[in-house]
Amino acid sequence: MSKVLIIGAGGVGGVVTHKCAQVPEVFSEITLASRTLSKCERIRDQIARPIRVERVDADNVPELVALIRAVKPDVIINVALPYQDLSIMEACLETGVDYLDTANYEPPDEARFCYKWQWDYHDRFREKGLMALLGCGFDPGVTNIYCAHALQKHFDAVHAIDIMDCNAGEHGHPFATNFNPEINIREVTARGKYWENGQWLETEPLCVHETFDFPEIGPREMYLMYHEELESLVKHIPGLRRIRFWMTFGQEYLTHLRVLQNVGMTRIDPVSFQGCRIVPLQFLKALLPEPSSLGANYRGKTCIGCMITGTKEGKPRKYFIYNVCDHAEAYREVKAQAISYTTGVPAMLGAQLMLTGKWRGRGVFNVEQFDPSPFMERIGGYGLPWTEKFLE
Ligand code: NDP
Repeated sequence: MSKVLIIGAGGVGGVVTHKCAQVPEVFSEITLASRTLSKCERIRDQIARPIRVERVDADNVPELVALIRAVKPDVIINVALPYQDLSIMEACLETGVDYLDTANYEPPDEARFCYKWQWDYHDRFREKGLMALLGCGFDPGVTNIYCAHALQKHFDAVHAIDIMDCNAGEHGHPFATNFNPEINIREVTARGKYWENGQWLETEPLCVHETFDFPEIGPREMYLMYHEELESLVKHIPGLRRIRFWMTFGQEYLTHLRVLQNVGMTRIDPVSFQGCRIVPLQFLKALLPEPSSLGANYRGKTCIGCMITGTKEGKPRKYFIYNVCDHAEAYREVKAQAISYTTGVPAMLGAQLMLTGKWRGRGVFNVEQFDPSPFMERIGGYGLPWTEKFLE
């Protein structure tokens, strides 16, 4: 019986709230807090169980501390934006509460993300006997746990990992992003980066691509990108020789993105406009559909998985583990599209494993540092079943 405080009432926040509400034996009291109270109320009104809602500016540590002292949660699930990670971690330290998130910290004025800022909190969390679990969505999150599971059950040594993320859904808009547009566009327009033979190698944005035949979807073009789980998996999977991340994009999406970039609409530095200072990417976000609004008409599936090669008992092995999620089914269950669903369900389960003592530690951790078994045993039952195939 535990109290949870969920921060962020967007697409993912809605799924986390629905899923926590489905598990009253663990999450006995739920509070949802976000910058816009009406968004919390809209989610609350979809759920039969009573949910407490609060307004909070999660950039403001004293405001967060006051909220946490009033709610007295056992764990905080941060599904606001990556910009708020450090302020929420500070507030957790000040109030003595455990922390979980799904995306690593990014400074608002610099399109750069890495774990260093959050890993630097390790000693402070450890000294207070608190736990912070980073990146417990799907990718990062489930993909990291798939790698830990493969190493634990099927490999003596893992040599190469390709994480592949395909969204073959149609939402009916010429251009929209499946999660927060600002974060999504910053990520996709960044230079590609992967790790091979002990060093990081960079590529021009989206210039390396391959076709892959995704289960239940078919062949799709996928593009090499940098993604945050590469950084933690390089650190935590011993003997790794290469790791890359791939994401599929349709031609329509790529054409819109190129035009927006060419005209300066993806810039993150402020520009003067009619006497005001505006950040073009923030203005673009205001024009694009909210990710949480895409669900109602979304059709099709996502497939996200890990292709892993290595050895078992001296023989080479090639192995693929993945999940397929249907946008319309996710919407029927929790009023959200599959990208929010595949992120929110693991966040709920990660918090549950922390609260029930299955995953415990003092300090700051990535999900692959814990035993993958309790997660792998339960995640299918919460809506994200996995399939594994031995290809060699
Ligand atoms: P949304 O933009 O839909 O939701 C973000 C929410 O955070 C909004 O409700 C927003 O409020 C709120 N928020 C923003 N700033 C503040 C603040 N200062 N104080 C309080 N609340 C704030 O994004 P998503 O739900 O799609 O994504 C949520 C998180 O999940 C992001 O960090 C994203 O990177 C991560 N993610 C992780 C994935 C994974 O697999 N690991 C995949 C997809 C997303 P308002 O509505 O008022 O703006």
